[in-house]
Amino acid sequence: MTETATPGARIADVCLIGGGLVGMAIALGLQRNGFHVAVLDEGDVALRASRGNFGLVWVQGKGDTLPEYADITRLSARLWSTFAASLQDSTGVDIQLQQRGGLYLCLTEQELDARARMLGKMHEAAGGDYPYETLDLKQVREKIPEVGDTVAGATWCPEDGHVNPLLLLRAMTERFKAQGGIIDNTGRVETIDPRPEGFRIRARAGGDWDCARVVLCAGLGNRELAPQVGLSAPLSPNRGQVLVGERVRPFLDYPTGHVRQTGEGTVQIGDSKEDVGFDSGTTTEVMAKIAHRAIRLFPLLRDVKLVRAWGALRVMTPDGYPIYQASTTYPGAYLVTCHSGVTLAAFHEGPLADWIASDRHDPSLEVFHAERFTL
Ligand SMILES: Cc1cc2nc3c(=O)[nH]c(=O)nc-3n(C[C@H](O)[C@H](O)[C@H](O)COP(=O)(O)OP(=O)(O)OC[C@H]3O[C@@H](n4cnc5c(N)ncnc54)[C@H](O)[C@@H]3O)c2cc1C
Repeated sequence: MTETATPGARIADVCLIGGGLVGMAIALGLQRNGFHVAVLDEGDVALRASRGNFGLVWVQGKGDTLPEYADITRLSARLWSTFAASLQDSTGVDIQLQQRGGLYLCLTEQELDARARMLGKMHEAAGGDYPYETLDLKQVREKIPEVGDTVAGATWCPEDGHVNPLLLLRAMTERFKAQGGIIDNTGRVETIDPRPEGFRIRARAGGDWDCARVVLCAGLGNRELAPQVGLSAPLSPNRGQVLVGERVRPFLDYPTGHVRQTGEGTVQIGDSKEDVGFDSGTTTEVMAKIAHRAIRLFPLLRDVKLVRAWGALRVMTPDGYPIYQASTTYPGAYLVTCHSGVTLAAFHEGPLADWIASDRHDPSLEVFHAERFTL
């Protein structure tokens, strides 16, 4: 523990701002490395992608224009089963991970051709080590008999999977607290003061914290925080609307890009991509479009009642890839943000947290620095 505290401030080795999926995964990895970690979170008023997402652990197509992103996505997918098992061992929470493969269903030949071409290029870029198949309707039916007649085909990747994202967040949070981690959600962090021996963190309503290192994992909140420690987070919100249908008999053994059946038997349907600022609401028009596509993919959904719907905001960089960066102006400050916080949770808990713990420059992460947006 650092001894830099000034009177009244609480002390931690690391203050991590943001207790969503990204923050909690990094927090666990830092605990594994022996750090005393405090997570400072805004609380229930916050915009939280972690509570509104689709739950895919998705590989196919991720990193089509950046091979390094494809690499970390696949690495995370490989680390996932051990990560899920260790969460279950320590908390008893089964986060319902399944990694038996996934399908991206296409309604037109053009859509299918475009996806097949994209995955073909990724396969080539990976020197042939990129598993995928293009399936026609008959082959899709061998995996999912209930698929509709108007489906042209699908792309299949055996490395895809899904998880219950709410149970994931709960399991990570429970484990973090059981291991002595502190969650302080007394208010929005407004100021990070770099000091000679670390940082003084100030929240609007809570008390102050002193720490040797600070890790920014505040989702869209990173935009305001990053410049205070010499970093930049050009993030914008992108809304996705998601529908949930009542429980039905098991009909979907694999997640698809638009529809998945949860461990409880409900059907999760989504999602849209909308540029509407910080409005996290829903609209009848978009929900109808999502439902219409889902019924074309799986006609049995026509008779399924919707039980819930929501909108949530993705945390997007201009190119959609993560920012992983250490501050050179204020050593000890880090920024971690991405738009696939479910998929990358195992990578964040593992290699990425190890990198922060080591405090060493890692040239392989330079491709994820924010300077790529200004050069
Ligand atoms: C509709 C939708 C579908 C998605 N589907 C998938 C999917 O299938 N698979 C996948 O991998 N990813 C998916 N995602 C993305 C995934 O949900 C996000 O990548 C992930 O949740 C981001 O987590 P985060 O912790 O960075 O951000 P958030 O969940 O937004 O958490 C940020 C936290 O920071 C806190 N905070 C912010 N500012 C401050 C501040 N100043 N002081 C203190 N606390 C602060 C907030 O309270 C919040 O708890 C989806 C997202 C959406 C919206």
